Amino acid sequence: MRYLRWLPVACLLLGTLAWQGGRTAAPARGEDPATPKSGAAKPDAAKRVYRILMLSEAESFKHSSVTRKDGNLSPAERTVTDLGISSGLFHVDCSQDCAKDFTKEKLANYDLVFFYTQSAPDPKVGPPSKKLPMSKESLDYFFNDWLKQKGHGYIGTHSAADTLHESDAYKDMLGAEFRKHPWGNGSHVIVTVHDTKHPAMKPWGDEFEIADEIYAFQNWHPENVRVLMSINMEKTAHKEPFHVPVAWCRDYGEGKVFYISLGHDESVWANPKYQQSLLGAIKWELNLEPGDATPNPDVSKAQQKQAEEAYAADPNKKPPR
Ligand SMILES: [Zn+2]
Repeated sequence: MRYLRWLPVACLLLGTLAWQGGRTAAPARGEDPATPKSGAAKPDAAKRVYRILMLSEAESFKHSSVTRKDGNLSPAERTVTDLGISSGLFHVDCSQDCAKDFTKEKLANYDLVFFYTQSAPDPKVGPPSKKLPMSKESLDYFFNDWLKQKGHGYIGTHSAADTLHESDAYKDMLGAEFRKHPWGNGSHVIVTVHDTKHPAMKPWGDEFEIADEIYAFQNWHPENVRVLMSINMEKTAHKEPFHVPVAWCRDYGEGKVFYISLGHDESVWANPKYQQSLLGAIKWELNLEPGDATPNPDVSKAQQKQAEEAYAADPNKKPPR
């Protein structure tokens, strides 16, 4: 009889363990178990807390936005971590050690993976130098299985497009590859938003000005993605004769992909609109808010035409970069 007294306790314990199943891995290096700020939403004990793995390892160029100082998280890591705390939606494990943390076993702990990595070949050495230390096995599993599962997603910011150049699967997933940045850091550009209803775009309105380092891309595949914002070449002072997408999204199997090239400068990470845009992308990938991912290559085509015409009409134009 006395064992029966403990039965409800044992059931409760087993139930709790089952609920946490697969989601209690040891924290990745750099995790900061910060306490919520006052006024932050408190997670409901019964509500599931999603988990995000944020990777910001850099090989040949390290942005200040991902540089940790005095043992603290970098500005980018702090921002995404705080978004999870203030929304009460997710917990972020931050890692700058891909070899240790981007593995098949560790991916089982996460809903989304967030890349602000950098691994371009060193110009002095040339390819295949400066690769991210991700095993072929982990990458194959990530692209062929993990990312295709419902509720899983990839978010890339800025130099996430300047990484894994040697991986065709990565470039195919992303739909583009960094080529150069014709607009150096601090350049003011005007950005047109093409889908103001998408959760990641709502904070921006239909057009805005921002100062940052702006990328141009190669291997751009508009037929595979929904472009969400582009440089408005008519209104931007420095013109180039080609379409410059700034953010886009796509379905990937049953998983989702979102990329935004903004985020070089620390001021962008401190911009509430940028933060809310990332939160919108996260909610969209977690299937908490709806958003269209239908490819819109016609938008890219129209933007290409607009850029060519704006460039041709510019009396101060310089040779294309
Ligand atoms: Zn940059």
